[in-house]
Amino acid sequence: MSDAPSYGFETQQIHAGAQPDPATGARQTPIYQTTAYVFRDADHAAALFNLQEVGYIYSRLTNPTVAVLQERMATLEGGAGAVCCSSGHAAQIMALFPLMGPGLNLVVSTRLYGGTVTQFSQTIKRFGWEARFVDFDDEAAVAAAIDDDTRAIFCESIANPGGYITDLDAIAKIADGAGLPLIVDNTSATPYLCRPIEHGATLVVHSMTKFLTGNGTVMGGCIVDSGKFDWSASDKFPSLSAPEPAYHGLKFHETFGALAFTFHGIAIGLRDLGMTLNPQAAHYTLMGIETLSLRMERHIENARKIAGWLETHDAVEAVTYAGLESSPYHDRVARICPKGAGGLFTITLKGGYEACVKFVGALELFSHVANLGDTRSLVIHSASTTHRQLTPEQLEAAGAAPNVVRLSIGTENADDLIADLDQALAKSAG
Ligand SMILES: *Cc1c(COP(=O)(O)O)cnc(C)c1O
Repeated sequence: MSDAPSYGFETQQIHAGAQPDPATGARQTPIYQTTAYVFRDADHAAALFNLQEVGYIYSRLTNPTVAVLQERMATLEGGAGAVCCSSGHAAQIMALFPLMGPGLNLVVSTRLYGGTVTQFSQTIKRFGWEARFVDFDDEAAVAAAIDDDTRAIFCESIANPGGYITDLDAIAKIADGAGLPLIVDNTSATPYLCRPIEHGATLVVHSMTKFLTGNGTVMGGCIVDSGKFDWSASDKFPSLSAPEPAYHGLKFHETFGALAFTFHGIAIGLRDLGMTLNPQAAHYTLMGIETLSLRMERHIENARKIAGWLETHDAVEAVTYAGLESSPYHDRVARICPKGAGGLFTITLKGGYEACVKFVGALELFSHVANLGDTRSLVIHSASTTHRQLTPEQLEAAGAAPNVVRLSIGTENADDLIADLDQALAKSAG
């Protein structure tokens, strides 16, 4: 079975892209731990190098274990194709690389993962790319930030750290009107909770490091292409529409149609940027994805229960979980991620910075780490760790004010987690 669309998500997360190994009958997808693949003859090698035949050459470009993961991700997101790479941050560069160039810009949400804010506000400037940060709840401001040099719109479906929900349909409409691709980071939601392509996204990027692998073992990234964007409708995307000198003048969009972005990502992106996912990491990620729906249901059940309990606690000033009735984004949950608002949210403590530091230090089941989306419950006080170099204004804008703590709710017993939070809150007030 591959990607039969009639199967439900729970079936596809186990079977899509995989079949018993043709050489041995092995039921589980083998880890193809090899760098290179033997050519049948010189003609076969030439056809592969000319992109006239699809096959395996060298594992910087393609590997059979990684290929199963790519097909599974494309199926789960409802896309035409997918390219996996070494991390979520690599996926963001790989997604932008065919679209951008010196002097060009992208319009991005202010509500993004902290590392993405740094990548977009600092590092991509070295490529001559500019990111314009806009409040994506202000649709007029998003439209106004777009100009002739804009090549992409970028946001997260459920945004880290606060669990804010982006109105993907509204943003997709703006992107569509401007003839631009919408790129959605779907890391915090996963395709089980949100399928951005159904809301108009062109590309979906993932840090597979988080909920997809699910147990904090390996790094990985992925770009899923909807296959729906017309790269040849304007002259804005020459990497995909114009002749490619590195392949004897081949035009990716004309030649590969809905798979143009995917083929470009492998044949140019992985070949020349080299941000390759290794087959061991692909294996761990495939193992994780087999139980994705089961884990997400438990993450949500626990997060709802814990967020509701925290909301009534005396030491807690605010809880940002969009799954709560009190959240301003509660209505968007029903439309954008109807199965639930994920497992990530922040709490504000009345005791301020000092209370947050004590609280994090007193937790026993929750681990204080810079990660999320693990079966283990995780906590981080951004202001004293990852964001400690920021000014008070920047901390506030990033949703990481000194009195804010981020929780990533795991799949443990919810009552055990509540008991741990309760004892730590008591110590934080003392
Ligand atoms: C972790 C994360 C990233 C970066 O992914 P890495 O795998 O750590 O490179 C990007 N976006 C979001 C929403 C994340 O949580």
